[in-house]
Amino acid sequence: MALYADVIIDISAPTLDRTFQYSVPEELSERAVTGAPVLVPFGKGKAPRRGYIVGISGELKVAPEKIRPIAEIPKKDLTIEDSLVNLAYRMKERYGGSLYDALRTVIPSRQKVESVRKRVVKRAVSAEELLALCEKLTGRETAKARLYKALAEAPEIPYELVTGKLKLTKASLDKAQEEGILSVEEAEEGSFYEGEGLTVTLNEEQEAAAREVLAADGHEVFVLHGITGSGKTEVYLRVISDVIARGKQVIVLIPEIALTYQTVMRFYRCFGDRVAFVHSKMSAGDRYRMRERARNGEISIMIGPRSALFTPFPNPGLFIVDEEHETSYRSESTPRYHAVTVAVMRAKECGAKVILGSATPSLETYYLCETGSYKLLSLHRRAKEGAVLPKAEIVDLREELAAHNYSVISRRLHAAITDRLSRGEQVMLFINRRGYAGFVSCRACGETAVCPHCDVSLTYHNDGTLRCHYCGYRRRYEKVCPACGSKYYLPFGRSGTQKIEELVEKEFPKARVLRMDADTTKAAEDYETILTEFAEGRGDILIGTQMIVKGHDFPNVTLVGALAADLSLGVPEYNSAERTFDLLAQAAGRAGRDKIPGEVIIQTYRPDHYAVTAAAAADYQAFYDTEIAYRRACGYPPVRHLLTIVGADRREAVLETAMDELAELLRKTCRDSGAAVIGPAPAGLRKKRDLYYRVLYVKHGDIDALVGAKDAAESWMHGPGGVGLTFDVD
Ligand code: ADP
Ligand code: ZN
Ligand code: ZN
Repeated sequence: MALYADVIIDISAPTLDRTFQYSVPEELSERAVTGAPVLVPFGKGKAPRRGYIVGISGELKVAPEKIRPIAEIPKKDLTIEDSLVNLAYRMKERYGGSLYDALRTVIPSRQKVESVRKRVVKRAVSAEELLALCEKLTGRETAKARLYKALAEAPEIPYELVTGKLKLTKASLDKAQEEGILSVEEAEEGSFYEGEGLTVTLNEEQEAAAREVLAADGHEVFVLHGITGSGKTEVYLRVISDVIARGKQVIVLIPEIALTYQTVMRFYRCFGDRVAFVHSKMSAGDRYRMRERARNGEISIMIGPRSALFTPFPNPGLFIVDEEHETSYRSESTPRYHAVTVAVMRAKECGAKVILGSATPSLETYYLCETGSYKLLSLHRRAKEGAVLPKAEIVDLREELAAHNYSVISRRLHAAITDRLSRGEQVMLFINRRGYAGFVSCRACGETAVCPHCDVSLTYHNDGTLRCHYCGYRRRYEKVCPACGSKYYLPFGRSGTQKIEELVEKEFPKARVLRMDADTTKAAEDYETILTEFAEGRGDILIGTQMIVKGHDFPNVTLVGALAADLSLGVPEYNSAERTFDLLAQAAGRAGRDKIPGEVIIQTYRPDHYAVTAAAAADYQAFYDTEIAYRRACGYPPVRHLLTIVGADRREAVLETAMDELAELLRKTCRDSGAAVIGPAPAGLRKKRDLYYRVLYVKHGDIDALVGAKDAAESWMHGPGGVGLTFDVD
């Protein structure tokens, strides 16, 4: 039978965003597999062009006189580039968008790389002297204190880590150098810090988990489900160390927000110069340089957010995704890929293992453990001697109202805060939305302040402005209703972080209060500064949004209060209960990480909701069982797959007609596969930045049926009458 190959050509040109069909000569048929690099005749040029086979079929799709044969399929092994191009193609297939976008995600454009000689910061005094110097620093010199402590533990640190994660200015480094405390030097030719290797002895559970991963033969996906503080990171270190000893490389994904100085130093201390870090604040040039180092075999471990997934390691043996349930693993730009899915895709192709770690695995991941695709490893106990899980208590806010307490702080929480403050312990208060100081509405006529560009209410801020959190629009808050002139045009609704801060300061005047939300943390440094201040005891109460709940270790925090636990239950999405459970369970995990037992108080209007009760009981299984039953009953992911198609246009009427037409088309397309087409309906946000949105859903048990629907919608989009679409799988 004649074979035909779909080939993509010239991966650098956005215009060639399609495949071309070639015939496969008999003698090449064995080597013609998807992913193979090929040489093909193209256009009028004489020299054959390089391309990649992305599909093979027996069906001729062009006019027979137009088909030309593949010229050559080189025999050599696939290069790293070849395998990444293939990955890009798989991502395009799965998530839609153009191949060009997918390739640019996977293989960033070449940057000029200046050859920089590696520089290191070395200590010039003993570890004891450094620690003594630390004692003398003022409370403001946090970066310096961290540097001295770090140097006390590792005799030299790469200059990049010092100026990057430790945020030290050149001036203060120069000064410390003049004082003879440290020296900044060019690393000696060939110098290499080996790291200390593993320093912690794993407990039985950790040991068993690590051993199980190491014993696996080739590709397999493991889910490391361990409560916060159970020592997942130590398991990673152990497995990594074994994998690199076998000459393979490791990619570790950590959400940007959790990639703190402590995490970075933990890996650096263990693996020294074999590990490199990337993050989104790095210049494109620096990131490119890291990639080159990985390609050249100078490093064996790459740690970073989402994009680190595409590190061009020659022989990756392990992919770790820490906090795998995190929403930041989903890309917001085309292709809208999910890092967990793509990590598994890439690992499968190179026969590597995967560890997905979390205290609250995503439903999708846990479901795949149940169905046997993934292997579950559990850690049930906190790793540190004496550390136990905090005790959680639910407070019913309706009873507070009945008792005439109109404050956002319940009587129970108030008493607990007072108690902690008197003992010199720390408190975290968290609300799962920012700026809820509420929308402004007129009590007389009902007029509300809305953004002129988006279909959302404006939020009142303390500086006397009303702001849109979607597009940044702002205007002055005039205390008079623009519609009826009433004076009762007032901020309304639930309290935001700012308002809580005011209230807490009033009720606990002696407490030092820190606030962390998107307004106080414009730059990445602000974020670390606030955390450091709190970690070093220069604040008694930390108030914040979900940011404060993610993976930080504050040993002196013994009380965590979730102020309005059910806010996120109201979000009209099928996974809102999961999001709520995650946040509450993670928040609860913050309390009492050391020997002092912690306490968690969850305030809610829905004390019986299973997301709330399961989080309070730290019972993941209970939550999962209820939630999966609900997903099954409604046919939601992960039980069935869901394709979300969002259409956008500036003209609302045009959008409506177009989306109706698309729905009609999809119903026809899906008749055979039996996929259900739902909608179109107005999107959760009808209008944003002057664009209107409508949404369509396609549901099916088999993801391939959805890919078919997506392809149909995609070609419709490029045809006449099509409107801009974005796709989301699950
Ligand atoms: P997780 O990532 O699961 O939240 P970590 O790996 O950060 O947990 O570990 C929590 C704390 O317990 C850390 O301070 C870590 O150093 C400590 N720890 C982990 N494993 C052990 C062990 N086997 N023995 C003693 N301490 C441990
Ligand atoms: Zn707006
Ligand atoms: Zn009015």
